[in-house]
Amino acid sequence: MTNKYAPESWVDPKGDSWTSLIDEVCAGEWVNPDTGTVLEAAFKCVEIDEQLDNRIEALVRNVMPAESYVVVSDENTYDVLGKAVTEAMAAVPGVKATSLVLEHPHADVQEVASLREKTRNAQALIAVGSGTINDLCKYTTANDGRAYSIFGTAPSMNGYTSTTASITLDNGMKTTQAAHAAKGVFIDLNISAQAPQYLVAAGLGDSLCRSTAQIDWFLSHKLLDTKYFTAAYVLQQADEVAMLQRSAMLGQRDVDAIGYLYRIMILTGLGISTSGMSHPGSMGEHQISHWIDSFAGDKHPGTIHGQQVGVSSITMAKLQHQILSSEAAPQIKPTVVDEAGIKSRYPSAAIDGCLTAARNKAFNAEQAAAFNEKIERLWPTLRAELLAMAVPAETLSAHLRASGGGVTAEEVGIDKQMYRDAVRYALEIRDRYSMLDLAADMGVLDDFVEEHC
Ligand SMILES: [Zn+2]
Repeated sequence: MTNKYAPESWVDPKGDSWTSLIDEVCAGEWVNPDTGTVLEAAFKCVEIDEQLDNRIEALVRNVMPAESYVVVSDENTYDVLGKAVTEAMAAVPGVKATSLVLEHPHADVQEVASLREKTRNAQALIAVGSGTINDLCKYTTANDGRAYSIFGTAPSMNGYTSTTASITLDNGMKTTQAAHAAKGVFIDLNISAQAPQYLVAAGLGDSLCRSTAQIDWFLSHKLLDTKYFTAAYVLQQADEVAMLQRSAMLGQRDVDAIGYLYRIMILTGLGISTSGMSHPGSMGEHQISHWIDSFAGDKHPGTIHGQQVGVSSITMAKLQHQILSSEAAPQIKPTVVDEAGIKSRYPSAAIDGCLTAARNKAFNAEQAAAFNEKIERLWPTLRAELLAMAVPAETLSAHLRASGGGVTAEEVGIDKQMYRDAVRYALEIRDRYSMLDLAADMGVLDDFVEEHC
């Protein structure tokens, strides 16, 4: 059958199954191009199908047998799937299954404590939802040694197959915490196609950072000897093409397009978890999003991760383009750590962490001179390598817009001044080196923010 989105010469990465390639990784059969050995995957079972409803209990029992379950959903996901999952599990002889519906949950440490208490009599948790519900169940069970599985209800982020959880601490900082793998990741595409449009666009937004994260990470690798692996990118290469070809279909919540979006998110998650570091999918663009989540406080617009990352990926693509368009190598001055600014900008509990992160990657005069010498020497080759990884900001914008997502801070409802602060100061909150740091040390970041944000 000819593919309705692609020329005939193009090979569909999906093949005859939604989980082709994904199954290979989960079975420990995919050869890691960085090492030549098979990848040991933490995830053993990912099931994606148009419809899962008559297989719910069989899927769960197969990967996570237990005598008692709590099905955790929120008010929306309970109606779309949580109720059906609870009923299916409760119908299994000898099994106790109850439902817990969280009201407006936040993925923070208080909610984790509360979830642990409310579910303490169950042997295993079944999460029904997307970002927040998944993070809460993943982190809670990782800490107390229970198993969990997830029924994804929206293609809004790539955390279904990550072993980390985004959890906000008592000091308000949004952090990435070590957690564990879901025993089963179950995706019903027909149900996910009913998710609100902004959640679908958010999934695309979170996926658009491949190019910007890769450029930041490779730069850091070449200049500062940060470890770098290609596995995550090799895994998702063909699917990135397949997904972008369907961005307009995502705008119509086409079931098939949603399936491709899930594939790329699942593969990205697997790539990150096998790299053992989040760098493949989290660099400057994610820091901008984390800054908003950590410091917007009462002014947080209620945007979700993928909406923010979509916008910040476009910003980073513009910044990277500006730096990479110069044939002359960038040159930096010694880093000025704005200690007074950090002390005035952030709540007291966050100041030490930010000062440490900013100081750790600051260059003194001697280090700046060595950096300049090195980047001068590497630039012609490095520039070509980075340009080959890039996707133009206009292209990213067009795809995101086609999927129904906002492409600027204002379009998704983020206050313009807050967004400018996020871009300007995001480099202070993590010791990861990105083009935000390079631009700041070159002395061009402020002007860039004025002009483009
Ligand atoms: Zn993300």
